[in-house]
Amino acid sequence: MGLRGGLLVLLLLSFGCSSPTGTTASSTPKAAAPAATPSPAPTTAAAPAQQGPETLDQLAQAFSGQPSFDDTRAVVAFGPRPPASPAHKKTVDYILRRLKSTSARVQLDSFTAATPRGPMPMTNIVAKFGQGPGQILLVGGHYDTKFLPGFVGANDGGSSTGILLGLADVLSKARLQKQVWLVFLDGEEAIHNEWTDADSVYGSKHFVQLLQQRNMVPRIGCFILADMIGDRSLDITRETNSTAWLVDFVRTAETSLGDQAYFFKSRMDISDDHGPFLAAGIPSVDLIDFTYGPGDHGLGYWHTPQDTMDKLSPTSFKIVGSVILKTLALLERQ
Ligand SMILES: [Zn+2]
Repeated sequence: MGLRGGLLVLLLLSFGCSSPTGTTASSTPKAAAPAATPSPAPTTAAAPAQQGPETLDQLAQAFSGQPSFDDTRAVVAFGPRPPASPAHKKTVDYILRRLKSTSARVQLDSFTAATPRGPMPMTNIVAKFGQGPGQILLVGGHYDTKFLPGFVGANDGGSSTGILLGLADVLSKARLQKQVWLVFLDGEEAIHNEWTDADSVYGSKHFVQLLQQRNMVPRIGCFILADMIGDRSLDITRETNSTAWLVDFVRTAETSLGDQAYFFKSRMDISDDHGPFLAAGIPSVDLIDFTYGPGDHGLGYWHTPQDTMDKLSPTSFKIVGSVILKTLALLERQ
């Protein structure tokens, strides 16, 4: 991701951030009771979209960070994972293999990105949970790493892959009222050294385009982005482009779980994969810990060969995973 000034703010003003009611109430057709399907017992409540044994609240309480940490270690062991590299291919295969052990319906969004290094194949991986014609809640993160010698991106690229795989495991057991899609995004990093609007977030741009082409945007309730969330010294910033009401939901979630110490002590304007979603009018929040290591800006490990597994902790994955699940639980009830 990159830091920048006012451009995204202008986009926000142009497109506006929808309020929860404004986004969902008018545009989401509610499913009619299926007349042809006999029900074993009469009930007034709509059938849950996915009949797992546990609620999102229960899963939030029980979430362990260890599986996510282990998945992160596995992809980091492949080495640098920029698009079109052998290790990138291994990462895609690993994600798909892991998702096979879950109940996810998996779809690939493969495309060719025009980059400063020429046309480059990229693939977003979407893991879908739950059923029904109603609202869809998105959780995403990137799995590519930046083109830098010796850069394995344990936190930046690795942790977002790991947290999504950990969430896929527990969402398989969830009783869901709405659909939840996990989106493993490709091509977040600038292909050239410098981050620009044109040379960044290729995967999220393409995925949002797809949603627009299929007229799906009105059904998307939110986009929750996880990026650099594995730092053992966890300090999630209040990213200022993020949608205010959705940030409030996250705040309610972390407070109810007793995790206030790790969230929103600082504020920062950060360009990241949530940009294209915001520009399309999708309420979005970037959960990012943008202090990572020593140095003037606390970024001594960022985009350096020092971004390695020893800087991460399973506890940080547990905290962020729990808060995401709790936020989804709150969003299900709205
Ligand atoms: Zn990065």
